Amino acid sequence: MGVIDELLANNRAFAASLPAWHLDVRPSRRLAVVTCMDSRLDVFSALGLRGGEAHVLRNAGGVITDDVIRSLAVSQRRLGTREVMLIHHTDCGMQSLTDDGFRAELQQATGVAPAFAIESFTDLDADVRQSILRVRRSAFLSHSDAVRGFVYDTDTHELLEIFADEQR
Ligand code: ZN
Repeated sequence: MGVIDELLANNRAFAASLPAWHLDVRPSRRLAVVTCMDSRLDVFSALGLRGGEAHVLRNAGGVITDDVIRSLAVSQRRLGTREVMLIHHTDCGMQSLTDDGFRAELQQATGVAPAFAIESFTDLDADVRQSILRVRRSAFLSHSDAVRGFVYDTDTHELLEIFADEQR
C-alpha cells in the first residue's frame, strides 16, 4: 500500500469520527499565515489554531512570491483577512542551496532555465525582513500594515519575532 492509500484510510476514520459541520469560508480570526512547506512545522498545533480560523499559505522557504501576493490579495479583498503572520524557521532547506547553483542544476537536468526565481537565502532574519517589506509595499493588498515576521525554532518549537525596522 502506498503512502496515499494509507492517508485515504486515515481520512475515512477521521471523517467517521466527526459529525458534519459547516464553517464560514472567511477565516474567523481574519488572519493569513505565510510559512515554509517544512514537514516539522505543524502550523495549527504550533499556533493553537483550529479549522476555519486562518488561511495558511505555504511554499519552499515561506517566501513572498507573486503567487503568495495573489493569494493574500484574495484572502484580504474577498475573504476578509486583515493581519499577516510570516514564519520562517531554523534549519530550512532553502539555506542549503543557492539561486545560481539550483538554477544551473535545473537547466542542466532539463535543458530549460526556469522562469521563476529560486528565492534561496542564507540569513533567516534578513529574509524575514525582506518578506515583511514585500507585503508592506504590495499595492495589491488592502491591509499591508498589520504584518509581523517570526522565526520558528524547529527543535524548541518557539517563535522569535523579527522586526523589519532593524535594517542593516
Ligand atoms: Zn523551510
